[in-house]
Amino acid sequence: MHLYVHIPFCKQACHYCDFHFSTNTAGKQAMVEAIAAEISIRKSYLESSRLETIYFGGGTPSVLSKEELQLLLNTISDHFDIAASAEITLEANPDDLSQSKLEDLFEAGVNRLSIGIQSFNEPHLQFLNRAHSAHEAENCVRLAKQVGIDNISIDLIYAIPASDHSILHSDLAKAFELDVAHISAYCLTIEPQTVFGNWLRRKKIQPVNEEFAAEQFEILIDTLAANGYEQYEISNFARNQQYSRHNSSYWKQRPYLGIGPSAHSYNGTSREFNISNNAKYVESINSGHIPATIEELTAADMTNEYLLTGLRTKWGVDSDELDRLSKGKFAMLHQQELSNMKKNGWLKEESGTLVLTKSGKLFADRIASDLFID
Ligand code: SF4
Repeated sequence: MHLYVHIPFCKQACHYCDFHFSTNTAGKQAMVEAIAAEISIRKSYLESSRLETIYFGGGTPSVLSKEELQLLLNTISDHFDIAASAEITLEANPDDLSQSKLEDLFEAGVNRLSIGIQSFNEPHLQFLNRAHSAHEAENCVRLAKQVGIDNISIDLIYAIPASDHSILHSDLAKAFELDVAHISAYCLTIEPQTVFGNWLRRKKIQPVNEEFAAEQFEILIDTLAANGYEQYEISNFARNQQYSRHNSSYWKQRPYLGIGPSAHSYNGTSREFNISNNAKYVESINSGHIPATIEELTAADMTNEYLLTGLRTKWGVDSDELDRLSKGKFAMLHQQELSNMKKNGWLKEESGTLVLTKSGKLFADRIASDLFID
């Protein structure tokens, strides 16, 4: 089973980010206590109490002190059986990762870091309003390895406006030099409720150029493949099968429990969404109530979610499973569509499994939504 813990604080707001976080850390201690309380209230949500993965996401979990992280991990181990081989990931920002911080994380049991590097280029970091410098981005990976955390993933952002692709090439070259196990690469998107969204409305920036973004995506796929990174999900690349076990469990529709404000949970038949408001979350948990809305999933929801996440992965989607989830509706509705997609070279079928081709990966979400059922 899989546990996600959302830490909703960041030092500063990145210009592109629409995740749930607050830059006011005054309530951090109360939040950590509420999260610990939610862990204990919800210990029976999953069928089994054995955890294969734990993921601290955010926000920025690396803003937690050693004591705060320890409190959360102790609470988890009081209520769950953490497998000896469990993957314990913490999202971190380079400016938090001093040697002593990394030693604390390693001692606490964190064995995988997902570091929000985004770029090794100083002007690009400033454009995104990241809190770290290019030097910190590079240095934290070396330090993490020195203290014994080898399983390192870095996030990179591509399609940042530039006159050519040289910065993307140099970002990738730096990642190869640092020999990280895993790279998550996301296209810059401009969401309305962000600083970039505001700048776009005021014409201070241009929309992301789709042609430029598609070129960068192809460069990513080819350069990463040539350097031994397998694209096992549209935005995720791993060397030597060092996949994110936690995120893979989402993509394979495994049940998980999400704790903290804005966290989601899934038990195989419904999803729960915790409130995205720090003060209301703490207040509700302190009165013994989980502030979540529950959505029972229909056959169409389950089929469409399976398509949307599964088609993005190298494991693809299984035709029998699609028929089971859709109660036979998928095969009835989409034979012609599937055959057109195969003819167009976007999709291939191998032993009953549908997988996107390289050209299909360029518009994965559109292909999935064309196959949705009502
Ligand atoms: S550090 Fe991460 S969560 Fe926080 S504002 Fe930046 S991108 Fe968003």
